[in-house]
Formats: sequence, C-alpha cells, structure tokens
Amino acid sequence: MKKQEIELLCQKAIEAQQNAYAPYSKYKVGAAVLGEDGRIYTGCNVENVSYGLTVCAERIAIFKAVSEGCRKFRALSVVVQDNSGPARPCGACLQVIREFGNNTKLYLLNTAGQKKQTTIARLLPMAFHPFREKSEEDSEKKK
Ligand SMILES: [Zn+2]
Repeated sequence: MKKQEIELLCQKAIEAQQNAYAPYSKYKVGAAVLGEDGRIYTGCNVENVSYGLTVCAERIAIFKAVSEGCRKFRALSVVVQDNSGPARPCGACLQVIREFGNNTKLYLLNTAGQKKQTTIARLLPMAFHPFREKSEEDSEKKK
C-alpha cells in the first residue's frame, strides 16, 4: 500500500473515533477498513448499559462494508486513546477480520502518534475456520 493510502486510512479511523459512544469505559476506539473496491468504511465502538451488547469499532466498520457488498479487505486501521499504547483488536474482532481474508494488513495506532503495523495472519495464526473453501486456502498459500 502507498504511504498516502495508509495515512488516509488512519485519518479516517481517527475521525470515526470522534463518534465513539463509550460512556461506561471511556475507552474510545475508531476503525477504518479499506475494501478491495477502493472504498473506506468506518466504525466506532458503541457501548450499551447492558455491557455484553457493546460492539467494537472494528466489527462495525467490517459489518458496514459487508452490508454494502464489500467482502475483501486490503487493510484495517484502528485507533485508541493515547494512554494505552497502539490499538490491539480483541479476540472477537480478530476472528471477524479473519473471516474475510488472511492477508489483511493492520495499522494499529493511538492518539499519541504511536503506530504498529502487522497482519491478521500474525495476530491470529491457526484461526478457527472449518468451512473455508479449499481453493481459497490454496490460493493464500501461493502468496
Ligand atoms: Zn473487538
């Protein structure tokens, strides 16, 4: 990915973070996912007084993309507040990211400017996925 594309994706995650609804944890998160269609889909965490109903920023961004017909992603950016190091997606979000590919690049950052680049394959090796098409597994091995 070009540096300009990465910067734009990170900027969109920072903008989405402004909409985070986190009155309970005060932990505001923003996410932006770049689809193979070239579009950027954003999300923020949305908490609920019944805590288990809370949905993370990453999943909202991905679900928005999927609901608009995009199922392949080039990269995902996630931003958290500056007191906690660069963002790290939770296990549920890692599984959702993995659902749509094993090559998605992750740009993890915080509002203090710390950044970390990784991949979903690195963060979730040997992921649970018993229903994948064999052809998809084979094509990923060739990369
Ligand atoms: Zn999560």
